[in-house]
Amino acid sequence: MSESASRPVSDFGSDDVVLPFVVEPLESRGRLVRLGPSVDRILAQHGYPAPVARLVGEAAALTVLLGSALKFEGRFQVQTRTEGVVDMIVIDFDAPDRVRGFARFNAEGLAQAIATHEAAPAQLLGRGHLALTIDQGGDFSRYQGVVPLDGQGLEQAAHQYFLQSEQIPTVVRLAVAESVTGDGVSWRAGGLMMQFLPQSVDRMRQADLHSGDAPDGANIQQGVEDDAWVEAKSLVATIEDHELVDPTLSSERLLYRLFHERGVKVFEGQSVQHACSCSTQRIEDMLRGFTVQERKDMVGDNGRIGVTCEFCSTHRDFDPKDFD
Ligand SMILES: [Zn+2]
Repeated sequence: MSESASRPVSDFGSDDVVLPFVVEPLESRGRLVRLGPSVDRILAQHGYPAPVARLVGEAAALTVLLGSALKFEGRFQVQTRTEGVVDMIVIDFDAPDRVRGFARFNAEGLAQAIATHEAAPAQLLGRGHLALTIDQGGDFSRYQGVVPLDGQGLEQAAHQYFLQSEQIPTVVRLAVAESVTGDGVSWRAGGLMMQFLPQSVDRMRQADLHSGDAPDGANIQQGVEDDAWVEAKSLVATIEDHELVDPTLSSERLLYRLFHERGVKVFEGQSVQHACSCSTQRIEDMLRGFTVQERKDMVGDNGRIGVTCEFCSTHRDFDPKDFD
């Protein structure tokens, strides 16, 4: 079924992989992401309560879906700032394959949300905004796109982002679940993104023209949706959450299940791993940037400066004398 994939089907599996694909008859292409150990590390090392973990897992799947499109070795960051119980999420994707992340939440607010059954991911997120940043490093400038969050959740926010910023019809599905295996309980996340990218740039314009020239004119509205895109979206809508996170269902199998009637071409997959870019050297450099007095103020009861990485929870401590 795949002309471009050079590895056997089973190699892609369902763990920590991104698979690009194209459904040519529908002029649509997309990516499927399946996260296993990488997202489990992010969620488990912070010990997030399950409802928070579900939301952060969605953000991780979204970040990998979008970040894996980068064609250069830069950083793609998804960040939320909201008034919700989870008021901040930061997920970094360092192209081509590293992901890390953390979130901040209000424990009291969470307990209340759980008690009133209002702890679904979109509800915990609440209102605020979602910022997508691309940083190529060096002298390259940063590019930031911002979408408002009005309680609609990350999937809808992603649709809005693509319509606003790139004017590409896009649909995104995200799912997160705890998976019980012989080794215990672990988190999994999955996501699928599909975009309508007709080869002919006139395709949308034709749709508009057609609506103007329609003989009866009454039933066809301006900007009518292309049939191919309507079909692509309806196929994506059939994906069940459990399919996105099922460890026994290979990624290629899932794509085949969804699009086999139209024919899906699956390209070479990209593996993903959890990795943090923090280092002792970087923190020492940062501490050197402070004044002697500022460093003095950071010294703890043990006489040392303790620094914990927000992303990976690694704790390091330093002797203030080393910087004098
Ligand atoms: Zn770290």
